[in-house]
Amino acid sequence: MRQLIEPPNIASSGVRAFFTTKISADNNINAALAEELNIAAENIYLPVQKHTINIHVLDSAREPVIADAVVTNKKGILIGVLVADCVPVLLWDKRRGVIGAVHAGWRGTAGQILKETITTVEERYNCSTNDIAVAIGPSIRQCSYEVNEDVKSAVRDATGEGDYFRKKGEKYFIDLSHANKLQALSKGILQENIWQSDECTFCNPERFYSYRYAGGSAGRQGGFIGMW
Ligand SMILES: [Zn+2]
Repeated sequence: MRQLIEPPNIASSGVRAFFTTKISADNNINAALAEELNIAAENIYLPVQKHTINIHVLDSAREPVIADAVVTNKKGILIGVLVADCVPVLLWDKRRGVIGAVHAGWRGTAGQILKETITTVEERYNCSTNDIAVAIGPSIRQCSYEVNEDVKSAVRDATGEGDYFRKKGEKYFIDLSHANKLQALSKGILQENIWQSDECTFCNPERFYSYRYAGGSAGRQGGFIGMW
């Protein structure tokens, strides 16, 4: 497997967090990760992603459910989301021992899935936003993500003012990574507890899968986090 991107704000002996880059072979991420990390494939949990704002609270049951975010306080399981331009976000509450993985495309961003995920860990695990580290992984950025007015408006309604979009003719260029960072800040996450990748998946097709670059043939990279 090629290089893993490990967010420095989630670096601790009891937790492993990373974003994958392109995986060679047959793009079977579970199998590749299981071998690379020497963990059993059944201890890797991915939800069935459908661009929903469903948040799955993972307990001992391991059946995949339709959701675009997963949270848990269980140890010994790697949770993750798969993306190919959309924004992968990892959460870690060191104090409560709670982790989360979020898939935020434009629909998820417009649905405030990151904020809803944080609300979920507050309610279910008594987490405090002061304790939550947020890592925002590689995604398509403003340089390369052209959208129509309706997408821009939906994201703006959810995010508010900010420099995460600009108009060009009838189109807009929008930065969902930055929009999610602004949503995290507005939810109360501390600036110093947020790490944000500066890489664009579209601009780095050798390193990342990009749906906009490769179309339907694009593979997927992921964001993963687990506690041991
Ligand atoms: Zn770009």
